[in-house]
Amino acid sequence: MYAPAGVKTNHNAFPIPDTMKAWILGDPGELSIGQKPTPVPKKAEVLVRIDAVAICATDLDNIYHGPPAMIEGGLPFNKNWTPGHEYMGTVVALGPGVDEYKIGQRISVEIHAGCGQCKRCREGMYTSCHNYGLNYGDVDKGHRANGFTTDGGFCEYQVNNINTLVAISDEMTDEEGTLVVTAGTAMYALTELGGLVAGESVVVTGPGPIGLLAVAVAKSLGAQPVILTGTRDNRLDIGTKLGADHVINVRKTPDVVAEVKKMNGGKGVDYVVECSAAPNAVNEALYMVNRGGKVCLAAFPHDKALVDIAHIVRNNIYIYGIRGEGKSATHRAEAYMRQKRFDATLIHTHTFPLDDLKEALRYAKDRVDDAIKVVVKADMSNAAKQAAE
Ligand SMILES: [Zn+2]
Ligand SMILES: [Zn+2]
Repeated sequence: MYAPAGVKTNHNAFPIPDTMKAWILGDPGELSIGQKPTPVPKKAEVLVRIDAVAICATDLDNIYHGPPAMIEGGLPFNKNWTPGHEYMGTVVALGPGVDEYKIGQRISVEIHAGCGQCKRCREGMYTSCHNYGLNYGDVDKGHRANGFTTDGGFCEYQVNNINTLVAISDEMTDEEGTLVVTAGTAMYALTELGGLVAGESVVVTGPGPIGLLAVAVAKSLGAQPVILTGTRDNRLDIGTKLGADHVINVRKTPDVVAEVKKMNGGKGVDYVVECSAAPNAVNEALYMVNRGGKVCLAAFPHDKALVDIAHIVRNNIYIYGIRGEGKSATHRAEAYMRQKRFDATLIHTHTFPLDDLKEALRYAKDRVDDAIKVVVKADMSNAAKQAAE
């Protein structure tokens, strides 16, 4: 029976096994299912029973290519490492001294705990921790980014620092709970652009999960107009349901910059949130904003790009890069979801059992059946109805 010293449990309500099912990464792209010891929460940590975990494009990068995952200072392959980072669940054990959360409480998680001691962590920029990945051997600074620098969520239990927990409403399904961190990333983008976007014009490029929820968050914050660009009509339609005032299919529009300007009274927009990672996305974003406008880059492109720097300088354009979901943006995002300002479940399309992770990854990677957010669950008895339409 799981009973580590100093850890509070309630085995009657939430029995915890000593070992758990976990997916483990071998060579690039090769996952196998095995058993691992159920992890033990330390000071300021809890044990989370993972009830649902969403697949993110970054999981595919980690599993097939390695970065941005970094385990013991290097690539994550053949290190007995478990990927997965966008999960929610139930607190089932408390580490020493934890009274901020209760056993049985439903939570969603942020990814980055940070080290808590570097300059950026002290500023709330824990996703840019200066000790990223330093959590082993002589350089153990205690950094955790589950599913990037520590074991993640494609398993049954995981430990989380209390700083990474976001209490969720009981009205939220498990699947919706996994989307808090995605909405939190969109919220962080708008936070970094200045936050107060009421009445300001916003373009979101790329209707992936973050882009679609960036539309929802921008609209909830009062932005006007909100314009979404992308290549797939089915995703653009979801953008409209989430609050986009205009959508532009770039495949059917020869000059997307001219089209954006036309939609905003001839001028560029105040803000662009770039979520597409397309090769020319940065330059197009620069041409879409008005003079003095701001561009936030939220996608991870694989290749370097040539950028029109003279245009940036002549027009006093600001460019921001964000990593993930800093400055407690997930808490603000959850508050919006709790108030039903937007329906994040519109981007959830499929749910699979945890045992079928490989099939779930294939759906996410190849966008089978128009998959957007694919979720896996260890216990399928309360799986939300598949939202595909
Ligand atoms: Zn992610
Ligand atoms: Zn730090």
